[in-house]
Amino acid sequence: MTTPDLTDLRALGYDETIAFAAELGQPRFRGEQIWRWVHAQMVDSIDEMSNLGKDLRAQLKARATIGTLTVAEIQTSKDGTRKLRLETRDGKSIESVLIPDGEKTTQCISSQVGCAIDCQFCATAKLGLTRNLDAGEIVDQVYRAKKLLAEVDPGRRITNLVYMGMGEPLHNYDHVLSSIRTLTNDLGAGMSQRRITVSTAGLVPRLEKLGQETIRPNLAVSLNASSDEVRDRVMPINRKWNIGRLLDAIRAYPLEQRRRVTFEYVLLAGVNDSIADAARLAKLLRGIRCKVNVIPLNPHPGSEFRRPTPEAIEAFQNECKRLGMATYLRTPRGDDIDAACGQLANRSNAEALVTLRVRSPDIAPIA
Ligand code: SF4
Repeated sequence: MTTPDLTDLRALGYDETIAFAAELGQPRFRGEQIWRWVHAQMVDSIDEMSNLGKDLRAQLKARATIGTLTVAEIQTSKDGTRKLRLETRDGKSIESVLIPDGEKTTQCISSQVGCAIDCQFCATAKLGLTRNLDAGEIVDQVYRAKKLLAEVDPGRRITNLVYMGMGEPLHNYDHVLSSIRTLTNDLGAGMSQRRITVSTAGLVPRLEKLGQETIRPNLAVSLNASSDEVRDRVMPINRKWNIGRLLDAIRAYPLEQRRRVTFEYVLLAGVNDSIADAARLAKLLRGIRCKVNVIPLNPHPGSEFRRPTPEAIEAFQNECKRLGMATYLRTPRGDDIDAACGQLANRSNAEALVTLRVRSPDIAPIA
């Protein structure tokens, strides 16, 4: 059990860790040692920092803790996908999914407790938004999962990270960026930016801001419609920033060489899966270096939408390819344990969360 007023060392960035050590009267190299213990060795206890003196460890323990999440439940799908339910120190549940794919393992991480964006096909939307995760809670999801894999499947390691779990990452901009800076720090976890993807429903001003950053993860955009009429219905955020505005921002985004934007397109029977939709999509995306992930809907209880028939899925994908789009069909992973795209809803806690739609002060309006 951690005490809320202790500083979580996982939540501090590199410079903040050095500054924290300085507050304790320690030189820079000590701060760096602490950083390495927390982010390279991923220790969970200050007592494990064996190259720090006893007095310094005691000082640290009086002021700080390491990591705040506990793994409450692990479910394993028949396809090898694992879903972790993690509890925060204020008793909220979040979910993180590990998806093995050949040599690779992708972790899909959450950035918020619930979500405010209200995409109509998504189970998380039904929870509403409770609060943002801080950078430590985002980073801790990765370290908890790394440790789990080391125990249960020692040959495997997390190779890719996608911010596609619960929440809209760009609605929690500062903490998400801070977590990426931490995870890519060479003296810590040392992940490559090229292996990290941030997925957005289309918060255009934040997308524009992301383009100004020195750190630039891969970009995925949840599009899901070929017309404003349909997107207004399935993604209400489109009424604020419509397809034209969103694609203008993506065209202006400073994409690095040999990188492509990924467009996610959840296929909904009778809504956005026609041959005419494929044709409109090709026209919309013309001139954008991109690929399209076609994701047949993973139905969840209470969803008003259906998954298209295999024939309709094939026809849509073939038309996209014929029109020259790099199109990939994403087969659902972990759908038997509700770990597939759009299904993360803390089912065991869903009712409690729905009644808990409390807005915390750290949540900015969607603007
Ligand atoms: S699809 Fe993503 S952005 Fe949309 S409601 Fe679900 S979690 Fe939020």
